[in-house]
Amino acid sequence: MTTENTPESRLIVVSNRLPIVLKRGEGGRLQMKSGSGGLVRALVPVLKNRGGMWVGWPGIESENGSDIKEFIANTTKNFGYAFKPVLLSAKEKNEYYSGFSNEVLWPLFHDMVSNCNFDPSYWETYQKVNRKFAETTAQNCRKNDYIWVHDYHLINVAKELRDLGIDSITGFFLHIPFPPLDIFVKLPWRFQILNAMLDYDLIGFQTLRDRRNFVQCVRTLLKGVYIYGKGQVISCRIGSREVRIGSFPISIDTRAFAEDAQTRDVAEKAWYIHEDLPNRKLIFSVDRLDYTKGIPHKLEAFRNALTRYPELRRNVTLIQVVVPSRRDIPAYSELKTEIDRLVGEINGQFTQSGWVPINYIFRHLGPEELLAYYRTSEVALITPLKDGLNLVAKEYCASNVDENGVLILSEFAGAAAQLQKGAIMVNPFNIELVADAIYQACTMDMEKRKIRMHKLRRSIRRYDIFRWVDYFLRASIAKDLNDFPLLEDYVPEDELLVKTETENGAG
Ligand code: UDP
Repeated sequence: MTTENTPESRLIVVSNRLPIVLKRGEGGRLQMKSGSGGLVRALVPVLKNRGGMWVGWPGIESENGSDIKEFIANTTKNFGYAFKPVLLSAKEKNEYYSGFSNEVLWPLFHDMVSNCNFDPSYWETYQKVNRKFAETTAQNCRKNDYIWVHDYHLINVAKELRDLGIDSITGFFLHIPFPPLDIFVKLPWRFQILNAMLDYDLIGFQTLRDRRNFVQCVRTLLKGVYIYGKGQVISCRIGSREVRIGSFPISIDTRAFAEDAQTRDVAEKAWYIHEDLPNRKLIFSVDRLDYTKGIPHKLEAFRNALTRYPELRRNVTLIQVVVPSRRDIPAYSELKTEIDRLVGEINGQFTQSGWVPINYIFRHLGPEELLAYYRTSEVALITPLKDGLNLVAKEYCASNVDENGVLILSEFAGAAAQLQKGAIMVNPFNIELVADAIYQACTMDMEKRKIRMHKLRRSIRRYDIFRWVDYFLRASIAKDLNDFPLLEDYVPEDELLVKTETENGAG
């Protein structure tokens, strides 16, 4: 911890990834671009120009990497907050990230025990890497900074910070679900993980269901822990310590989505999408390649809809975007093969001259392209088997500025609690029910669509990302965003982070 004497408290975010991605181009030259994914979108607007710091892995493997540190420091010096990279070797990255995080905690916390690989070496490396994150944080934090750690990759960081003698207030937000007791108990390191979570001062979950699962695990598995209170945030006493436990469903920068969806570029792209697929309704689905997203179930439901409702043929197109992800894990490669097979089969079965039922895109979409699909698609079909929240559901509604879209949403997405009133809710395991929902959405009259979408958008506007941050900080340290004011030399560099794609000669 630095000894710098300052009364101001800064926000320190610790997450697996920095909000930038580095790679080495020709001749080993370092290149940087913005990161992607829910967390980055959520937190960049919060940290930007408010001082503070983001601790995380920069996206390339490295043993010592002094050039990486220098490159990041130089390239990000005008961003309004500091970037502190944690460097990982290839082995560390494999065993901590692909291994313990994504072959143990990810499947277990999504109730998919059969996808777990409880390899003991993963746990060893997970602890070691969490220690590294804690060390980088400890080296750069001041006494009254607030340390906000994110997600399942870094559960042990508060424990490690305590071992390093750091007594700053810490908060932890779990972006993915927390499983029920009978699933959690299968984890070989269940006591270590539960105790490590209780080392934070505040633990945040996406939904009340996740919090309930966690509380049940703590009550059943740990002794000497007293849980009390009611409401959004409850308390837990362990000896002389008090830990708060709350549910804080994450949100999006709703206004930015609505504004960006109305730009000329997006409107033009949206127009072309429909022009190329004329006289039909577009059903839009976008998922990371992941077995939790229920992509094969959804494709089967679409096939069922085309079979049982022949009037949908030629009149709808399913645009299925799959974003490549975690391809080094066997289950993900197998899933890709399964999706390719199903898409081929369904297109082979139903295609007619001038109409292909599924438009399949296997790549990451840039922000404008994604917004154009959100804006122009009459239906969004979002049917994860289990999902922490699902930001895409909220983004679709926020971007649907004409308020004529229909959201079909899985009841197992964390967003379901908030969006159930305006969406068509489905059990994604029930293929026929999802097929019926597709038919209902595609034939719903304009008035009903408008009423539903208006309700959804109002709710998302009211509870946006800034509210989420305020709620979490207030529950944690009785402060809100305004207590971390914009810097005096604030440069409105207009989405500097999001658009940066810089190169220099380092390395
Ligand atoms: N996303 C994107 N381009 C794509 C697909 C998705 O930028 O082609 C973003 C999307 O805007 C959302 C995030 O990736 O913010 C996905 O978040 P979500 O919570 O829906 O799912 P996750 O992938 O985090 O499980």
